[in-house]
Amino acid sequence: MSQELNPFKIAQRQFDEAAEVLGLDPATRALLREPMREFHVTFPVRMDDGTVKVFKGFRVQYNDARGPTKGGLRFHPAETIDTVRALAAWMTWKTAVVGIPLGGGKGGVICNPKELSLGELERVSRGYIRALGHYIGDEIDVPAPDVYTTPQVMAWMMDEYSVMKGYNVPGVITGKPIPLGGSAGRGDATARGGIYTVREAAKILGIDLNGATAAIQGYGNAGQFAHHLCVELLGQKVVAISDSRGGIYNPEGLDFEACVAHKKTTGSVINFPGAKNITNEELLELDVVVLYPAALENVITKENAPRIKAKISAELANGPTTPEADVILHENGVYVIPDFLCNAGGVTVSYFEQVQNAYDYYWPLVEVQAKLDEIMTNAFHAVHEAAQEYKVHNRIAAYLVSVQRVAEAAKLRGWV
Ligand code: GLU
Repeated sequence: MSQELNPFKIAQRQFDEAAEVLGLDPATRALLREPMREFHVTFPVRMDDGTVKVFKGFRVQYNDARGPTKGGLRFHPAETIDTVRALAAWMTWKTAVVGIPLGGGKGGVICNPKELSLGELERVSRGYIRALGHYIGDEIDVPAPDVYTTPQVMAWMMDEYSVMKGYNVPGVITGKPIPLGGSAGRGDATARGGIYTVREAAKILGIDLNGATAAIQGYGNAGQFAHHLCVELLGQKVVAISDSRGGIYNPEGLDFEACVAHKKTTGSVINFPGAKNITNEELLELDVVVLYPAALENVITKENAPRIKAKISAELANGPTTPEADVILHENGVYVIPDFLCNAGGVTVSYFEQVQNAYDYYWPLVEVQAKLDEIMTNAFHAVHEAAQEYKVHNRIAAYLVSVQRVAEAAKLRGWV
C-alpha cells in the first residue's frame, strides 16, 4: 500500500505539518503528538444463550490541557486502538477549534451491535462502564455517542456509573435522552453545526445554495439529520444518499421522510422506489455542489480525489480524507470544511449538556441553537482567516488554530 491509511499515523502527520508551520518547540511537539493516557479493557458479558463472551474496549484520554477529556464511544467490529487514538487526537483539536473548555478523548468497543440483542447491547454498555468507571467522570473524562452508539446506550452507561458512585451523576456522559438530563438540540447538533459552516462557506465562495445539489455518504445520525437540515435550512436538493450497503441516486431529489421510512423498514437506503442504486464510490464522485461525507475514515484518497467534483466537501465524518487527497482537493479548488471543524456541533452541544447538568437548569431549544450557531460561525471564520493568513489548505488552518490554543494552555500550566 503506497499511502498510509492508519488513522493515527495520519493524525500525527497532520499535526506535524501544523507544528512545523507554527515553529512549535520540541517538547510541546512531543507532548501533543501522543495520547497522555490510554486504557485497554477486557470484560465478560453474559449472552442471551447463556454463554459468556469476552469483549475488548479502549478509552484514550489524549490531552486535558484545556479541560476534562471529551469524546464519543464507538461500537464497531473493526475498532482498533490506532483508530481510537486518532479520533481522540481529533477531539482535542475539535474542542479547541470551537473554543470550549475541554480536552479530547475517545473510546470504543470491538463488537458488532447489529448482531447483538437489545439485552446484550445493554450488558456490553454496562460492562464497558464497570471496566472503566473509575477512570472517567464529569470532571475527568466525559464520553458521548459516536458510530453505532445511541442515547439509550448513554442512558445505560450513565445509570451504571451512578450505581458505582451511589448517587445520580448525569454529567458523566452526554448525548443522554432528554428525560435523563440530555440537552434539547443534541440529537441533530452534529449535522446542524456542519450546515452552519456550509452556509458560511457558501457566502465566502459566492455560491447560492438554494436548490443546490447535495450528496450524503453515510446515513446514521449525522447523515440523516444533514439530509433534513440541508433542505430545511439551506434549501438544498439532496440527490444521493448511501449507507454501508450502498447508495441511491435521483437527480430530481430524494424526500427525507420517505428515505428514513424506507431505511427503517428495509434496513438500508438501497432499492428505494424511483431511485437508481449506486455504489458509495460513485456517490462520492457525483457532480454535486455539496458533498457530505458522513460515514467513516479514509473514503477520499489519492485514488478518487482527482474525480471529486463537489464545490464544497463538508466533513461530518471524522477522518474521511487522507493527507494526499487533501492536497489534490485543494489544488482542484474543492473547498473542504475539515472534519474537526465541520462536525464540532455535536461536542459543542454536549458541552452545553454538561453545563446544564452541572447547574441542573435546562435551556430551551432556541437558546441552544442560537449559541451553537454563534460558536460554529466564529470557529469557521477563525479557520478561514488562518488559511488566508498562512496560505495553507483548510485542514492545516484548522490545526493551526487548535494546536496554538492547546499549546498555549500546556505552556500556561507550566508543562512545557
Ligand atoms: N462523537 C462526537 C464527535 O466525534 C461527539 C463527541 C461528544 O459529544 O463528546 O465529535
